[in-house]
Amino acid sequence: MTMFTGLAPIQIGVAEPSTNSTSNASASGEPEHARVVIVGSGPAGLTAAIYAARANLSPVVLGGYEAGGQLMTTSEIENYPGFPDGIGGPELMGLFRTQAERFGARVLDVDVDRVDFGSRPFRLWAAGVEYRADAVIVATGASALWLGIESETRLRGHGVSACATCDGFFFRDKEIAVVGGGDTALEEALYLTRFATKVHIVHRRGSFRASKIMIARASEHPKIELHLNRTVAEVVGQDRVEAVQLSRTDEPGEETLPIGGLFIAIGHRPNGGAFREWLPSDETGYLTVDGETTESAIDGIFIAGDLHDHRYRQAITAAGEGARAAIDAERWLETAGAVSDEPATLAAVL
Ligand SMILES: Cc1cc2nc3c(=O)[nH]c(=O)nc-3n(C[C@H](O)[C@H](O)[C@H](O)COP(=O)(O)OP(=O)(O)OC[C@H]3O[C@@H](n4cnc5c(N)ncnc54)[C@H](O)[C@@H]3O)c2cc1C
Repeated sequence: MTMFTGLAPIQIGVAEPSTNSTSNASASGEPEHARVVIVGSGPAGLTAAIYAARANLSPVVLGGYEAGGQLMTTSEIENYPGFPDGIGGPELMGLFRTQAERFGARVLDVDVDRVDFGSRPFRLWAAGVEYRADAVIVATGASALWLGIESETRLRGHGVSACATCDGFFFRDKEIAVVGGGDTALEEALYLTRFATKVHIVHRRGSFRASKIMIARASEHPKIELHLNRTVAEVVGQDRVEAVQLSRTDEPGEETLPIGGLFIAIGHRPNGGAFREWLPSDETGYLTVDGETTESAIDGIFIAGDLHDHRYRQAITAAGEGARAAIDAERWLETAGAVSDEPATLAAVL
């Protein structure tokens, strides 16, 4: 969640490539070859690591420079089962990592910048080091899009949020503003009416791009007020959100809206850049999976978490997908994988 409570974050990663990460070639000079490489160290990646490690697959996690993922930016999570009093995001992700390492997962805080999924073993490059894998689980998550103004960044976690499901509960009996004009923004606004005394929807255009049904629901809701043709120029407040200053986009004019919370709902960017050449995505850039499983279009490559799930976007659902991906990878390795040095199956991609 969002309200920073002064919890001391557990340091679970480094911002620079770890020195370990550059010394992973085998003694023969050959690139390291793992049964399973997991890309990403958020809830999906680290849960996959726990399951793969406990299946004796000795996974290597190329966890990214943003070690721990999105929850590292939040101080209080109240909806992750098992923690009735809530838990800090960094603390939770530290526990995920400790649990994965306890069973033998090796976690390296490096970004994968290139892959070759066209032949077996699969090849991945991170911080100039090549890794080879029989199976790969891709769990690189998604990043919330922000407005990019200084006051918004400063007040993130102090009343500015990008997740109504995660943080709505903290805004009981307050006036809230939601920024955005798509279905997600209107869904978030409707959800927030359960807690807020009033929800203001701020959208820069004169009409919404959301579906008709969502527009009707939002416009008719007694707690929702629409502010079209307006953008947020400034979030007002020193230690917590007190108001937003809006600028009109259709004519000169500014106004100040007193609020206690601001939800930015202008979209997410899935972090699939290194894989796009190989793995199909939908029209919004989220990688796609094969039906009910976590299998990608390439045999032996599995996808988990927010990188493909734009519907639920929760730590528990991402963790659940990590578990599913590790089980899928383990079963695939047992039956089809690891032995073949034939080209990877690209039928569904090509
Ligand atoms: C402010 C905020 C508050 C939230 N609060 C809650 C909450 O209270 N409860 C809840 O359930 N959910 C909450 N969420 C949502 C939750 O954080 C996500 O749903 C969850 O983290 C998704 O997990 P993930 O593993 O799929 O991806 P992420 O957590 O996004 O992790 C992605 C990982 O991939 C790595 N990565 C990215 N690119 C590369 C690359 N090229 N190479 C290697 N690694 C890479 C990153 O370093 C990171 O480790 C919140 C989100 C935000 C932003």
